[in-house]
Formats: sequence, C-alpha cells, structure tokens
Amino acid sequence: MANDLPIRCRCGNLRGRAQGVSGERGNRIVCYCDDCQAFGDFLGPDGVLDTHGGTDIFQMSPARLEFTRGLDQLACLRLTSKGMLRWYAACCKTPIGNTMATRQIPFVGLIHACVDHEADGRSRDEALGPVRAGVNARFARGDRTQLDAHDRAPLSMGLGILGRLVAARLRGDHAASPFFDRGTGEPVAVPLVLSEDERRGLENVRTGAPAP
Ligand SMILES: [Zn+2]
Ligand SMILES: [Zn+2]
Repeated sequence: MANDLPIRCRCGNLRGRAQGVSGERGNRIVCYCDDCQAFGDFLGPDGVLDTHGGTDIFQMSPARLEFTRGLDQLACLRLTSKGMLRWYAACCKTPIGNTMATRQIPFVGLIHACVDHEADGRSRDEALGPVRAGVNARFARGDRTQLDAHDRAPLSMGLGILGRLVAARLRGDHAASPFFDRGTGEPVAVPLVLSEDERRGLENVRTGAPAP
C-alpha cells in the first residue's frame, strides 16, 4: 500500500513529505560507493553511514517529494564539477537525497536520515519494503566477509531503475522536482563544488589514511 511519509531534517527547520511511496514505487538499496561515503563524511559523524560506510537510500521519482517548510535551508554539494547533486539541510547537515545535475532525469535517491519514520509510526521496512540489495560493496569499510552486498550494482536492478525513469519522464515528473526551479529548470540552491584538496581529505577519511 502506498502512503505519505514525513520528511524532516534533524533540527526540524526543513520539512516536507514523500507522497504515495511504497516498496513497489521505488527501489531501496544500501550504497557503499566512495562518493556516497564522501558525502556522509562531509556532513559529519552523525550516523549517516553504517559501520561499513553504507547509506540506506530509497530511489524514487522527485515528483513525489514536496518541501513544506524551510526550503531556504536546502543546500547542495557536488564532489566534482561533473558529479551528482547531493542535497542536504544546511541548518543541521541532515542529508536529503541525491539527484542528477539536470532535472531532465527525474530521479532522487532519498537518504534515510531525513525520513521521520518515528512520526510515521511504521518501521522503515514496513513503509518502504526491505533493502533489495547492497551495492558497490567493493568500497565498503571494515571486514567485508559478513557483508551481504554486490561488488557493483546488479544489471537487473539498473534495468528496473531505467524502466521506472522512462515512465516518470513520460509522466512529466521532471518538471515537478522540488530540487529545480519550475520556471528556469536551474537547481534551487547553488551547488558547492569541492576542491581537489577537500575531496582528497574526504577520501582519506574513507580509507583511514593519516592526514598529511
Ligand atoms: Zn535542520
Ligand atoms: Zn553511492
């Protein structure tokens, strides 16, 4: 059954909802990739990443996402000048989600930390279904022997996402993304692009290399 889920940054400034979501209307994964880890480390040691550096993400159409308060707190990071847009609440550094750099591809990977499952009263599994797969485990931290995850992203999953993307694009969902201005199509916040040094610093956190 599809339901609405409350969205809330940790401090409560930024709020909204994910509308009509369910396990069938998206794809729940845990991503261990180096870029997701860099984003988690950029935000700080506040429980975004699991012990293996994974991020629990629900991939869905951005048209189902709406912000109702604190939109001015919505900020955006790019690890490189060509990277994805990684959205977070500037007030308390709660991650919100990842989108492509253009609204033409109607996709958001909604990050677990901004979904208020407590207020919703259901567990994450109940609201969004179980994790379908762990992906990009080749970047995972710590002992990987017990980790039930794919080294990369399975092709079947990629095809499923592609199918969903095409359907969302045909529905015109790209024009309804809250991350892009409806008129101009530009991101609603100017992306902060990391310098090479800043990126290397985050990479060192991931690999556990000592600071130079
Ligand atoms: Zn906040
Ligand atoms: Zn990732």
